[in-house]
Amino acid sequence: MPIGNVIPGTRVGSAPERHQPAPCRTVTYWCRNDHHTPIRLAAEVEVPEVWDCPRCGLPAGQDAQNPPGRVRPEPYKTHLAYVKERRTAEEGEAILAEALAALRRRRGRPAG
Ligand SMILES: [Zn+2]
Repeated sequence: MPIGNVIPGTRVGSAPERHQPAPCRTVTYWCRNDHHTPIRLAAEVEVPEVWDCPRCGLPAGQDAQNPPGRVRPEPYKTHLAYVKERRTAEEGEAILAEALAALRRRRGRPAG
């Protein structure tokens, strides 16, 4: 096995890159854990309001003093939500009762 048979200057796959670098801007996002993350965005890309912090996963915003997620209490269930839930449950019971009745009919037993 020959040693030292390497020809300098011949590297496969080292084609020169000719594309122009796209114009970029750096936007820094802060999360509520005081992580700041500089994000490089192409100039034509719309800057997103919120960026997920890569360190803790919380939403991060561009305002260091007021990161998102700090003052967002859990939404309370509205009355409508309760009504909807109850209605769904009632519908479910009705379907269940119907199915049971059908089952009983099929078995030839009186309901109840
Ligand atoms: Zn974070």
